[in-house]
Amino acid sequence: MIKTDILIVGSGCSGLYCALQCPKDKNILLISKSDLESSDSYLAQGGICMLKDDTDYESYFEDTMKAGHYENDKESVGIMIRSSQDVIRDLVSYGAEFEQDPEGQFLFTKEGAHSDKRILFHDDVTGREITSKLLAAVKALPNVTLMEYTTMVDIVEKDNVCYGAVLTLQDGTLDVVDADYVVLACGGIGGLYEHSTNYSHLTGDALAIALRHNVALKNTNYVQIHPTTFYTEKHEDRSFLISESVRGEGAVLLDKNMERFTDELQPRDLLSKAILAQMQKDGTKHVWEDLRPIPRDELFKHFPNIIAHCKEMGYDVTKEPIPVVPAQHYFMGGIQVDHTSRTTMEQLYAVGETSNNGVHGRNRLASNSLLESLVFAKRAAKDIAEKYPVVKRDPTLFENFSLEKYSDKEKLRKEYEQSVILKIELDEILNPTGVDAEKRSEKNV
Ligand SMILES: Cc1cc2nc3c(=O)[nH]c(=O)nc-3n(C[C@H](O)[C@H](O)[C@H](O)COP(=O)(O)OP(=O)(O)OC[C@H]3O[C@@H](n4cnc5c(N)ncnc54)[C@H](O)[C@@H]3O)c2cc1C
Repeated sequence: MIKTDILIVGSGCSGLYCALQCPKDKNILLISKSDLESSDSYLAQGGICMLKDDTDYESYFEDTMKAGHYENDKESVGIMIRSSQDVIRDLVSYGAEFEQDPEGQFLFTKEGAHSDKRILFHDDVTGREITSKLLAAVKALPNVTLMEYTTMVDIVEKDNVCYGAVLTLQDGTLDVVDADYVVLACGGIGGLYEHSTNYSHLTGDALAIALRHNVALKNTNYVQIHPTTFYTEKHEDRSFLISESVRGEGAVLLDKNMERFTDELQPRDLLSKAILAQMQKDGTKHVWEDLRPIPRDELFKHFPNIIAHCKEMGYDVTKEPIPVVPAQHYFMGGIQVDHTSRTTMEQLYAVGETSNNGVHGRNRLASNSLLESLVFAKRAAKDIAEKYPVVKRDPTLFENFSLEKYSDKEKLRKEYEQSVILKIELDEILNPTGVDAEKRSEKNV
């Protein structure tokens, strides 16, 4: 048996930042199913939103609500926006660098459905910049133990109180962790889809485990399709994203006749629909994205990673359009949490993409997810610190703990994946995303 004070499941930006914000006198075990760097947080290209100044508050709030079809939790949205400068200050203190002008002022970029430039970026690898600096800061903490290739296969729970988790360790053996608090920071569900921009090991394990223990989930059918991923006939572990900020800086979408067919900066769900409709009309497997309208200097300075990938795939973006297609990208649904990231089970928290605090409503506004993950991870850590004096413990649960029911790992994996897929399908029947929110409320469904 392993004993720790706080168990954090996931080494993406939400798990790492939570570890950094937890009390320094508590022992933390932070685990990752794969290596520590293989998280979607490392893949984020476009950037992270920040409230530039108070004059942008109303507009940022409205853009987030409008993209989310006004199904967002207004309080969560307000908390996220108001906390953004504090979070960015923290990131800078950990060494994260964002593009600045010669006077040292932040430079901002724009993405779809934003009415103003308010996105901080680091080339087209903002997620790697942020998450690698967080990981380095966590590695320097004496109270944190990191274990990679270690998978949570269940939580330990009694009477709706969480006391720890069951893990498969790197050598394949099973073990149980006695922890005062468990924070689920397990990311999205892209691994359940054939075409996704996510890492394939992100299969919604925390959701399956929550379902198993009657922890409430919310809006699990709210799945975001990204309009533009690089189209290729070759098999890829995950689809390569052509960031929305490419369109924000001027790239246009073209049909099979090389003509524009839609507004490139509309919200992601609407743009994905427009592209899929055009593909159907044209009888094609992709549309084209032309990056040549972006000024050459800007193109090379801002998007080196995207240019390099296209080149590797045989396309010179300065001479020709590239083929793009929509793919699964982000999970707005998740484990239902309150404004301090508490789930409906005592001593169990959920943060980042695996959670649902209502910020994104039915559709996420671009570059809000890194910010939302960080803001609510910090709030979880603060809540844990406040709640510590009243923590419940039950050592008897760990005496002769039987691990036998977890021994068939493949069977368990399939069960978990199927339970999440079924839940998504059921939620879609009950609350179809194809129907407008207004019509749903009229029908009272
Ligand atoms: C290609 C791409 C580009 C993006 N661009 C942007 C952007 O520009 N701006 C933006 O705001 N957002 C962007 N996003 C979204 C954003 O990156 C994610 O929503 C965010 O990073 C999620 O962070 P997280 O900490 O919740 O999860 P992740 O970073 O995905 O980390 C999940 C962690 O959980 C671990 N894990 C999962 N299951 C288990 C288990 N059972 N046991 C142990 N560990 C487990 C994984 O190994 C991993 O360490 C992008 C996403 C992708 C895929």
